[in-house]
Amino acid sequence: MALDIVPSVCPHDCPSACALAVERVGGRRIGRVRGAAAQTYTRGVVCAKVARYGERQHHPDRLSQPLRRVGEKGVGRDAFRPISWDEALDEVAERLTCAAQRHGLESVWPYYYAGTMGLVQRDGINRLRHAMRYSREDLTICNALSDAGWLAGVGVKRGVDGREIAKSDLIVVWGGNPAATQVNVMTHVAAARRERGAGLVVIDPYRTATAEQADLHLAPLPGTDGALACAVMHVLFKEGCADRVYMARYTDDPAGLEAHLATRDPAWAARITGLAEDEIVGFARLFGRTRRSYIRVGYGFSRSRNGAAQLFAVSCLPAVTGAWAYEGGGALYSNLGLVELDRTLIEGLDRLDPTTRILDQSRIGAVLTGDRRALGNGPPVSALLIQNTNPLVVAPESGLVRGGFARSDLFVCVHEQFMTETAAMADIVLPATTFLEHDDIYLGGAHSYLQLGRAVVPPHGECRSNHDVICGLARRLGADHPGFAMTALELIDRTLRISGLPDVEHYPEDGRLDCCPPFATGHFLDGFAHADEKFHFRADWPAIGPAFARLPAFPDHVGVIDDGDPERPFRLVAAPSRSFLNTTFNNTPSSLAREGRPTALVHPEALGRLGLDDGDRVRIGNRRGSLVLHAQSFAGMQKRVVIVEGLWPNHAFEEGIGINLLTSADPGLPRGGAVFHDTSVWLRPA
Ligand code: SF4
Repeated sequence: MALDIVPSVCPHDCPSACALAVERVGGRRIGRVRGAAAQTYTRGVVCAKVARYGERQHHPDRLSQPLRRVGEKGVGRDAFRPISWDEALDEVAERLTCAAQRHGLESVWPYYYAGTMGLVQRDGINRLRHAMRYSREDLTICNALSDAGWLAGVGVKRGVDGREIAKSDLIVVWGGNPAATQVNVMTHVAAARRERGAGLVVIDPYRTATAEQADLHLAPLPGTDGALACAVMHVLFKEGCADRVYMARYTDDPAGLEAHLATRDPAWAARITGLAEDEIVGFARLFGRTRRSYIRVGYGFSRSRNGAAQLFAVSCLPAVTGAWAYEGGGALYSNLGLVELDRTLIEGLDRLDPTTRILDQSRIGAVLTGDRRALGNGPPVSALLIQNTNPLVVAPESGLVRGGFARSDLFVCVHEQFMTETAAMADIVLPATTFLEHDDIYLGGAHSYLQLGRAVVPPHGECRSNHDVICGLARRLGADHPGFAMTALELIDRTLRISGLPDVEHYPEDGRLDCCPPFATGHFLDGFAHADEKFHFRADWPAIGPAFARLPAFPDHVGVIDDGDPERPFRLVAAPSRSFLNTTFNNTPSSLAREGRPTALVHPEALGRLGLDDGDRVRIGNRRGSLVLHAQSFAGMQKRVVIVEGLWPNHAFEEGIGINLLTSADPGLPRGGAVFHDTSVWLRPA
């Protein structure tokens, strides 16, 4: 059978946005997926889960026809019967219209997230939302806290090009596990180590696969990274490692910062973080004495009630040492703000009515169960149109989410590739294309490429793209916007033109446009993105979010976390696993085989006190509920810490519900954000 290699782009919710070289077999199927060697961030490397994408693309459980539920909610495929596309779209349009007539337009809530990161297929649902004046969605489940923290200091969502890691003498991976979740970082770390003898420091509550490779691993208690960062800065000032010339020129208030940090010494931080003073001082000296130090800022430590303040504190470090000024120095959190794309056409921003209410996606459980505050004192949500996400498993407070979806008066349409837990609760399920079957354009969080990905195989079965479904519904609902009459490629083309970028015809042949800024801009030597062009040590939290009252202006430890009590002494981190990406890939054979079973990593001393052995069943819980896992003895963390990597399908758990049963939907400070790693729990023998 004919085999050719075609270019594509990984669409998954991962900063790497890898450039792909896909084996296409006979024009219809795919074989092995490799990283594109010529794309200088990907450098030929992709993660194992995408290398075996054929397992997902050609999975026997892919949805292939529109379905109407005729049985009980939650049962799965057996509760559905196939219908035609016209029947399905007519019914969805009619039910959305009925909901709007009964409770008002805001009772319809289009709900989406990052199952694909392609801008057209992900964000096009907003065009329908705005054209119809349905409820808006506050996208808080991933980066609300980290964005807030980064913007407080730097002022714009970009940082030093990830490829410069290879030019660094010290790489600090703070709050991330790229060896498992973002493999390309390690490619550039390996180059720096090989070519420059660079050091690698990892800061993470447990000894991850990345920490295993590090020269130094610090494991603070979850929610205490801000204290660690402050003590490091205290040492930098005290021991002459602060670059006062740099700070005088590029920062707002170095004297104020130094005075503020005078009491934040390593002994203070040791009490909060659970680290030894020596560890803190040792890291501070290493960081302070290395000019080309590069912090790869992860998301993990931002998923906490104080997460924005924590990330802000860490972002201050290179501004104290002046590392931003050197090649291979500085920091990167995300480059998603690097390319200024005009999204008016894709998202229908010209139809946005700012008086429509905004509902917090992380609080979907509270929203669907009628919490007045979560509903903004508005009408109930009585119809959901869902694309690209599986809130039954990924949203916090799963018990409440499940209760909301169980409502008999709630209409739900899910457009998906598989019969997810959320799809199983829907009234109508529509089969969705994968990235290999539709056109889209992709930004990268970790690099500077804007990449065009074209369809490389025909749609599976009767699958339709998100864009096609949104346009089909728009026609039936009478939604008016020129974007509904365009193909995905026409939308991309027009968006590129109005953004002042090369259009599709003039785009690089391989689909990869490198938008890397000049050195001075990339390193903020021509100014940070605040009005005074300085890095801000004094955060203007009131300008970032309404819940600022408990956030101090200078970096600090903010003691608002769920720090436990005698009833709930353990701190749970619900971390990502290597082989799943949220719930994507948690149904492919190789991912399931590698991950084994839902497992809690528990310190051996804690295990002993519970009278448990390695491999025993353990019940883990708090006031939101409890579930059973298998315990694995693991010494690579503090004794109070418990790690559960996921996200597993609900059916993998004895009682049919996963780890987000225990996580809180409390909004992080100052403008919301899910606090997945800020949970206290008890453990008991099961
Ligand atoms: S590393 Fe991330 S971007 Fe690259 S192939 Fe894997 S999931 Fe996709």
